[in-house]
Amino acid sequence: PYEVLVVGGGPAGASAAIYTARKGIRTGIVAERFGGQVLDTMSIENFISVKQTEGPKMVASLEEHVKDYEIDVMNLQRANRLDKNEMFELELENGGVLKSKSVIISTGARWRQLGVPGEEEFKNKGVAYCPHCDGPLFEGKHVAVVGGGNSGVEAAIDLAGIVKHVTVLEFGAELKADEVLQNRLNSLPNVTVYTNAQTTEITGDDNVNGLTYVDRESGQENHIELEGVFVQIGLIPNTEWLGDFVERTKTGEVVIDKYGSTNVPGLFAAGDCTDSPHNQIIISMGDGANAALGAFDHLIRN
Ligand code: FAD
Repeated sequence: PYEVLVVGGGPAGASAAIYTARKGIRTGIVAERFGGQVLDTMSIENFISVKQTEGPKMVASLEEHVKDYEIDVMNLQRANRLDKNEMFELELENGGVLKSKSVIISTGARWRQLGVPGEEEFKNKGVAYCPHCDGPLFEGKHVAVVGGGNSGVEAAIDLAGIVKHVTVLEFGAELKADEVLQNRLNSLPNVTVYTNAQTTEITGDDNVNGLTYVDRESGQENHIELEGVFVQIGLIPNTEWLGDFVERTKTGEVVIDKYGSTNVPGLFAAGDCTDSPHNQIIISMGDGANAALGAFDHLIRN
């Protein structure tokens, strides 16, 4: 059996595994896709101390760093269920069961997609999901933010300081963000808000050149010319497989304390799958290290 089993091989999981392996603890990583969201990222400019890199390049360094330690990397393996008897028992999709004294969950999250034509095709070519990451690429341009909840309105306020113009499209009859955010948004000169607006297509040639939406009241179809679309309709944590085994928020995020502990003794979590507020590579790595030290502390006491 393992002493620490890390489920998820993104920045949080890789960092956690390196930290526990450096303590001489028997560590394994199970990952459906080693690298996680970073594999899907083009340019990374906010990983402090590295001015600029690309996702796949960062994943290659992560892998090299992990392989420098005695860590069992079980890539392309999906976890289906977690249980605890004397030890934690992790059931894999392939039927195998792995046992461990402690577990760190770092299964990340996925952006909710609009599911309209053009979204997939223009991903990283004008379609973006992370304003902190990609906002500066649109300096001086016209962009849309789809989604009028807190994350959409925060994104629009953030982007308005960088880009020329921001159009916010909300499906419902009104914005759902907190009033203070809406007030801030309304005070900005370069923002237009459309409510009852159903985005139906993202258009482009090599890159995005526009967005089509239907006004749900009048039924009229409109097209806006723009260079970028930020989709902000939710981030879904990859935690469905945990069921009721561990406490999760109503949106599915694993609830952790400042040590990365969950409500189950010996079970820790880190990164985008948790209720920690910001989702970034550097933060996930820090959270992974934190959870690993939490797990180490648990192991030496038990
Ligand atoms: P993830 O990276 O999501 O990794 C989760 C891991 O868990 C993966 O290995 C996955 O395969 C695995 N997994 C999931 N479910 C299971 C399961 N059931 N069984 C086994 N394994 C499972 N952040 C920045 O800081 N800068 C950027 O420039 C930036 N750009 C981004 C661009 C894009 C397009 C996207 C999508 C995100 C971007 N982010 C950026 C956000 C950043 O990638 C995430 O915050 C970070 O990757 C989260 O790390 P994580 O380890 O928590 O989760």
